[in-house]
Amino acid sequence: MSDVKRVFNFSAGPSCLPEEVLKECAAEMLDYQGSGQSVMEMSHRSSVFEPIIAHAEAQVRKLMNVPDNYKVLFLQGGGSTQFAMVAQNLGIRTGRAAYIETGVWAKKAAEEARHLGIDVDVIASSKDRNYSYIPRVEKISGDYDYAYICLNNTIMGTHYEYIPDTGSIPLVADISSCILSEPLDVSKFGLLFAGAQKNLAPAGVTLVIIREDLITDAPRAGTPTMLCYKTHADKGSMYNTPPCWQIYVLGKVLDWIENIGGVKEIHRRNVEKADLLYNYLDASAYYHATAEKGSRSLMNVPFLTKETDPDKAKALNKEFVKAAEAAGLMNLAGHRLVGGMRASIYNAMPLAGVQALIKFMDEFAAAHQ
Ligand SMILES: *Cc1c(COP(=O)(O)O)cnc(C)c1O
Repeated sequence: MSDVKRVFNFSAGPSCLPEEVLKECAAEMLDYQGSGQSVMEMSHRSSVFEPIIAHAEAQVRKLMNVPDNYKVLFLQGGGSTQFAMVAQNLGIRTGRAAYIETGVWAKKAAEEARHLGIDVDVIASSKDRNYSYIPRVEKISGDYDYAYICLNNTIMGTHYEYIPDTGSIPLVADISSCILSEPLDVSKFGLLFAGAQKNLAPAGVTLVIIREDLITDAPRAGTPTMLCYKTHADKGSMYNTPPCWQIYVLGKVLDWIENIGGVKEIHRRNVEKADLLYNYLDASAYYHATAEKGSRSLMNVPFLTKETDPDKAKALNKEFVKAAEAAGLMNLAGHRLVGGMRASIYNAMPLAGVQALIKFMDEFAAAHQ
């Protein structure tokens, strides 16, 4: 593969994977460890696949320090299906839930819960400043079945710098775009979930970490079998065919994190990358970051040029994204709902990628100032 030319991929998801992992997968593609098959082809009930899923789960438990009274599940349907599963399985006593509205994904989760008949209480929102910050809600109390937050807001580029204290109310967090990017105390949560395609694996597997007492055999009326956590917990994520390939890659990505020094080291690297980019943006006369200090994501960095005329700004953004692509810096367009630019710098993005981006930004600014 010596003639392969790789780009720096700043996509928000699916996103870049560690090159070491891709190489290992390539080496094992035709013959996984003497089995004569690819992991894509083998039976999920086979003796060769069983250790693969067991290893992936063991690595999640080890790296995230998952307490013994939590189940680790490998599901499908992405983060978006969890919006419904959370509501159907947890909203069973009062039918009321507290949501903090911090942008698109938190809103979608609340809408889905409402759609399913949950009495959703939006207890805080950052809508007043276009979701550019995380509201401070240190304590959540009330007669709620659960409280819900989106820990890292992929589109707005914001992130909680604290975990709300919910007392005995189970706290649910969408950690799709920040899982394993930083240390996280799992015991503070009732349920965590993450679609894999940001920091874990290719799209197609969704990781769920759920406290055992929240796994009910009596979810809300009409809940499909496949949307009951119990269905999957009882069968070790093998009630039906699991996303075998994704689980295999996930195990390898977690091995990679462990090998470079674990979550502590990946966090150090993420802070280094993010600081570099935010410091550049904050010092720039041409660009600025849109997320407020104190709420900034380590993973997703939306930014704008200082062009204030909307039409000119739009044209400029387009030009930026196109020129960046020509320079091998891919997928820098902001989310279609917010515009501008966004650099997603997940775990697998090397420091060299951020350095190359800043160099490009500097040249682009110089040519346009
Ligand atoms: C990407 C993302 C989702 C949606 O995930 P899908 O797997 O596409 O359903 C949900 N929440 C957050 C925070 C995300 O970043």
